[in-house]
Amino acid sequence: MTLQNRIDDLPFENHFARLDKAYYSKVDPTPLDDVRLLHFNARLAEELGLAATAADDPALLAALAGNRKVEHGAYIATVYAGHQFGSYVPQLGDGRAIMIGQVRDARGELRELQLKGAGPTPYSRFADGRAVLRSSIREYLCGEAMHALGIPTTRSLSLVAASDPVRRETLEHAAIICRVAPSHMRFGHFEYFYLMQRHEMLRPLADLVIADHFPQLAGFDNRYAAWLTEVVERTARTIAQWQAVGFCHGVMNTDNMSVLGLTLDYGPYGFLDAFDAHHICNHTDEDGRYAYDQQPMIGHWNCSRLLQATLPLLHDDPDQAVEIANGILNRFPAAYTTRMMELWRDKFGFASMQEKDRDLINRFLNLLDRGKNDFTRSFRALGDVRIDSGTTPLLRDLITDREGFDAWLAEYRARLQFDGENEDARRARMHAVNPKYVLRNHLLQTAIEKAEAGDASEVARLFALIQKPFEEQPENEAYAAEPPPEARHISVSCSS
Ligand code: AMP
Ligand code: MG
Repeated sequence: MTLQNRIDDLPFENHFARLDKAYYSKVDPTPLDDVRLLHFNARLAEELGLAATAADDPALLAALAGNRKVEHGAYIATVYAGHQFGSYVPQLGDGRAIMIGQVRDARGELRELQLKGAGPTPYSRFADGRAVLRSSIREYLCGEAMHALGIPTTRSLSLVAASDPVRRETLEHAAIICRVAPSHMRFGHFEYFYLMQRHEMLRPLADLVIADHFPQLAGFDNRYAAWLTEVVERTARTIAQWQAVGFCHGVMNTDNMSVLGLTLDYGPYGFLDAFDAHHICNHTDEDGRYAYDQQPMIGHWNCSRLLQATLPLLHDDPDQAVEIANGILNRFPAAYTTRMMELWRDKFGFASMQEKDRDLINRFLNLLDRGKNDFTRSFRALGDVRIDSGTTPLLRDLITDREGFDAWLAEYRARLQFDGENEDARRARMHAVNPKYVLRNHLLQTAIEKAEAGDASEVARLFALIQKPFEEQPENEAYAAEPPPEARHISVSCSS
């Protein structure tokens, strides 16, 4: 496939924009001043069929800033609703996001390009339609970090800064990212039409998702049940992957839940530093509704909201629809537990799960939790444990409860002995699943402060770092460290 030099020459298909106008509004981005391309995701550009050298073209920057419209773009903002912190909000929608359009990428898959921070839309309610530099950097980098960790996610093509002032708690500057995903459709898209009592609107939306992203289901009579089963299971598996790397989403409202099981809408997220099962990364979330250990349960509840909203698709008879929906919802716990157990198995380096392994896993997590010891570093160091009891593993230095650790270690070694695997092979396998580098808040904070002062070099450095989270990068050793004491309690809120 030849790469295009102009974004305008990508094969735009814009399926969503063919739907009835009730699903969206056509809206033009509001231009920004003094725009600068702070970072360009050259690899993603090439996946999209766009030459990396396009970054040098001022016409591309103008398109990515929302200062000019791409020739075959759709330019729509979509309407959705959602449950925010448990309460239903009847109308949300793309309040600051505008879809440029849907293109066929280099592999023939559909990808949606969406500007985030492009100015007001009919769904902005009282807000300004903008995004600040700080939150744009956070979203830009985390999509890539999660992707490199093998976790389904939206990504971003570009990070553009502007001089326009934006008022949050203080005065900040606007920025805009171009988000890329097969689809940004949310549970909330279905909730909107269900709770508006416009049930006839559900089917075209579901048919669009199925045709575009689940074509193998398209011909079946029970395609909606099959699709929803897939959504529930993908959601469960994605959340299991979050738990395995210590990722806290922070705002798991149903309007931030993807119908493709992607990680979506990076706001006040955080990767665990010290392990605390009840860690709350979003300081607006006072009750800890979205705490680390609540995420699987919340994911399950969110799926129940989606299934409620799609009942009319499942059966004409309401009782039978409920029965089918419950059957689908009940797939969540098993899908989650199965995936989570596979992930723990791999993180602990077990060849297969044995009867007592759950206990061994829980006891290790309890050790970390009791001592508030570093999650990422501890799992990384677990891979360096040798069966030979004459050697003291590095891990021992990281754990506060030495006595508890020594007792645990003896059992862990016996367990590894039971597998009888080659030690180097096990270590390599474990290091390929226990990342050395995650996007810790204090690293982001430094990159943000520099970028706010006009130096985007640290954004570029982090971008390169998180491309290879599992590899040793000796020159970047400091990026694997725990946060310094003064940076341990960086507080991140919904403000973005
Ligand atoms: P979030 O909490 O970022 O998931 O956003 C919740 C809702 O508020 C979504 O409908 C967003 O589009 C909207 N929203 C958030 N920030 C803004 C903003 N600055 N301008 C317009 N709409 C916004
Ligand atoms: Mg959102």
